[in-house]
Amino acid sequence: MIFPRTARYDRVMIKVNNLFLQENITSFPVDPFQIIKNNKWGLLTYSEIADEQGAWIEDIIAAFQSEDGYTIFDGTNYTIAYNDTIQNQGRIKFTLMHEIGHIYMNHLVDFDETVLTRSELTDKKYKVLENEANAFARNTLAPVMVVKALDLKTSIDVADHFGLSQAAATVRLKSLIMDYRQLLSPFIRFQREHFRQFIEAGLYAKQCLICSHHFVESDADFCPVCGYGALVNRKGVDQMIYKGYLLDDSSRAIICPCCENEHLNYEGENCKICGVTLVNKCAPTYVTGNTGLNYWEESCETKLDGDARYCVKCGNESTFFQQGLLKDWKTEKKEIEQEKEMEELLF
Ligand SMILES: [Zn+2]
Ligand SMILES: [Zn+2]
Ligand SMILES: [Zn+2]
Ligand SMILES: [Zn+2]
Repeated sequence: MIFPRTARYDRVMIKVNNLFLQENITSFPVDPFQIIKNNKWGLLTYSEIADEQGAWIEDIIAAFQSEDGYTIFDGTNYTIAYNDTIQNQGRIKFTLMHEIGHIYMNHLVDFDETVLTRSELTDKKYKVLENEANAFARNTLAPVMVVKALDLKTSIDVADHFGLSQAAATVRLKSLIMDYRQLLSPFIRFQREHFRQFIEAGLYAKQCLICSHHFVESDADFCPVCGYGALVNRKGVDQMIYKGYLLDDSSRAIICPCCENEHLNYEGENCKICGVTLVNKCAPTYVTGNTGLNYWEESCETKLDGDARYCVKCGNESTFFQQGLLKDWKTEKKEIEQEKEMEELLF
């Protein structure tokens, strides 16, 4: 194969998207250890090699001419060796994705293996392949279109969303425009569609300041668990997980939340066994008005999630809550906290 004069970034992008499909990656962080396992590639640490050879880590670094990692191809299978004495886990992750890049780009098959070892003769060629492997690593760990769609501007945000080290996140941001120029429109469309759920979860993540519930909803004015309108845009881990039921795309229960009837594949909103309403949605709610008089607030018909006690659009109660299928959040919060205390006592 004729040696490329400059890095083939367009080809890198095709390989990056191939990896997402082949490894079924639809969210982040990406786990290079899992990818190596799935492909049955060998994996060695510098410590293991040093032990076996009776050598120092420094000797291994010198032999591979790489402080971070190296890939060996024996004609049939690949083995990746990496420096496990490096403390920074983010850097190790980047190194492994870089080595996987060499494999995906077919570098060890298409070119003389010695090119991957730095020497004066091959220095220029080595750089071309290194640039390709680096582009592969940053675009698999944090793809351009996902970073752009989430509108991430600081390395802290990038590190947070993709589970990267600060250094790797900084590299990612620096080469964002350059990588974007390499993206042909089919790749852009592919990444947007392939990572749609992850992007939406990042864009529409909200946290309630009253009950600490986390949820994803493009335009919510009220918290679905406590009904208060104290929401902030924030991606985070849900520490309070309030009980809910599994619903299909039209907010209809998959198993009856009341009698656990599983045969619900018919039209109609009510369970044929127990009669409960199977769709969780905004319900007409009896409220106290400003004048002190009670009145019925009509349903806005918004379909809700399986854990929603309140409507995210108008704050009315939900059908599940009114039927007693979901507990009041304060009661449940107390129970969750008591359970946690018990666990701490036991372990
Ligand atoms: Zn390399
Ligand atoms: Zn809340
Ligand atoms: Zn039922
Ligand atoms: Zn409503």
